[in-house]
This record gives sequence, C-alpha cells and structure tokens, in this order.
Amino acid sequence: MKTGEFHLDRCTIAHKLLDFGQLLSQRMFANAMFDPDTVAAIDIHTHAEEPCGTHADDGYAEFQAGMQKYFRTGRDWPPAIPETAAYFRERNIGAVIFAVDCERETGFRRYDNEAIAEEAAEHSDILIPFASIDPAKGKAGAREARRLVEHFGMRGFKFHPTMQGFYPNDRSAYVLYEAIAEAGVPALFHTGQTGVGSGMPGGMGMRLKYSNPMYLDDVAVDFPEMTIVLAHPSFPWQEEALSVANHKPNVYIDLSGWSPKYFPPILVRYANSLLRHKVLFGSDWPAITPDRWLADFETLNIKDEVKPLILKENARKVLGI
Ligand SMILES: [Zn+2]
Repeated sequence: MKTGEFHLDRCTIAHKLLDFGQLLSQRMFANAMFDPDTVAAIDIHTHAEEPCGTHADDGYAEFQAGMQKYFRTGRDWPPAIPETAAYFRERNIGAVIFAVDCERETGFRRYDNEAIAEEAAEHSDILIPFASIDPAKGKAGAREARRLVEHFGMRGFKFHPTMQGFYPNDRSAYVLYEAIAEAGVPALFHTGQTGVGSGMPGGMGMRLKYSNPMYLDDVAVDFPEMTIVLAHPSFPWQEEALSVANHKPNVYIDLSGWSPKYFPPILVRYANSLLRHKVLFGSDWPAITPDRWLADFETLNIKDEVKPLILKENARKVLGI
C-alpha cells in the first residue's frame, strides 16, 4: 500500500467517526427538549453515581456507605439516572446532573462522561448533563471537554477540588478552563467542607484546603468570560464566597448540600439583597432531596420577589436558557 492510500483510509475512518458522533447527537436531541418556561424550578446541583455496585472491588462500596451515613439518606446505594429523572419529572423540577472524575485522587473509576450524556439524553425533558474531567488530564482533558460539548450535548462542567486534589487556581488546570470558556458553558466548583471521606481514617486522604472559594477569585480574574458557580454554603469560608461573588460579575453561588434551616444569617442576608441575581437553588441530590430543601426554604426569610430568582431565573442565566 502506498502512503497516500493509507492516509486516505485513515481520513475516511476519521470522517466516519465524526459522522457517528453527529448521528448520536441528532438522536440525543430527538427526545423531548427541556423547556425552562414550564418547569417549576431548576436544581443546579444533583449527582449521578454509577449504579449497581460496579465499583465494589475498589473500596467504592465502603465510601458510599460512609456518604449515606453522613447525609442520613436512609439508602444503601445512590439512585441511578432513570430513578433520578423520574423523581424530578414527577415534581416538574429541571435538574443539572453530573458525576465527579476523581479516579486519579481516589482510585474510583470515573463514570464515563459519554455514558452520562447518553443516559441524560434519554431524559432530556428534565435533565441537563454536566461533564467532569480531572484537570490533571491536561491537554487530553481539554480535547475531551471540547468533544463533549460539541458532540454529546454537555452543558457545563463540575469540579471538586478536594476529591480531585488540586488548587482551582493552579495553572495546570488552565488549559481545561480555556476549553470550557471557549465553549461558553459554566464551570461549577465544590467549595467548603465535604461529606466525602468524613469520619474515615485520614478523611480518606481528602484535603479540605483545596475547596476554599478564594482560589476561584483568581480563576474569575483570569477567565472573566467563564461563568463560575461556587457550590454550597462554603463553611468555614462563607464570607470568602460572598465576597468573591459580590466582586466578580461572572461568579455565582449555589445553595446545595445544606438544609436552608442551617444557612448562616449572612448568607440569607446577601441572598435577599446584594446577591439576589447570583444565588441558585441546588439540592445536592441524593444527599439532600429537593422535597426537604424546598420545605425548609419556605421557612426562610426570603423576600417573595427574590424566590423566583433563586428557584429558577438565576439558573436560566447561568445555563444560557
Ligand atoms: Zn455535590
């Protein structure tokens, strides 16, 4: 075979693969589309965990048992994507759903982004998939990010600095942020303490320091076009989070992972005033159910005109829908 012919063959194969990707995205978008006008609320923070104990061989089962205990969910194992979709559809609440690629730091194999995209696409009337890529994957991760947005309909990215073992302002993560900023989708970062590794020897190696929201201030400076969501009331750095969100136009805060009953007063004060356009409803499903979160939210002193902003309108802005 002449070199030219081989080259031609390789190109043909590459084009066929590209066609397949396009076919897949067409098929995915053929399902009912999410309609932000008709949902009652948008939950910006829900988790997809791999179902059926497929990780039982690498310590994942013990880890999950610890998580269920910490959050007192009354479950043995987190729900699979179809169960999550059914729960949210029943309540007419749209849900951003993601896993966390933490295989380098924890040894738990990641939930493939493509698999999540395909499963979420089966429920595209209610689920909005985010991808997760460990920044340590460098340029390969950046290439994956572009592909996931372009061909798999991923609408944002989730980071967990403690589970992924990195400082968010570490320059090695910037090649991935560049891809995300170019794609024009938001990046959501876990901030504050975490249930992950809680009560386990050495906290399962999880270092809380990485999740100080002040590191995201650097990222907001260097990527002013990238929308950044600081997830959770950021205990013990709540004021840092409020300060960054107040100062940087591209930084938002989600209220997931805590019952609103336990929100610090300063968070409620900012949500009601200065940050009313930047604070988002999130549950952290399945750790906390939207039923519980919303019931406790009702007892908070949030102004009536601010509630629709927190429950849906601010999420529409972050997601660009
Ligand atoms: Zn979470």
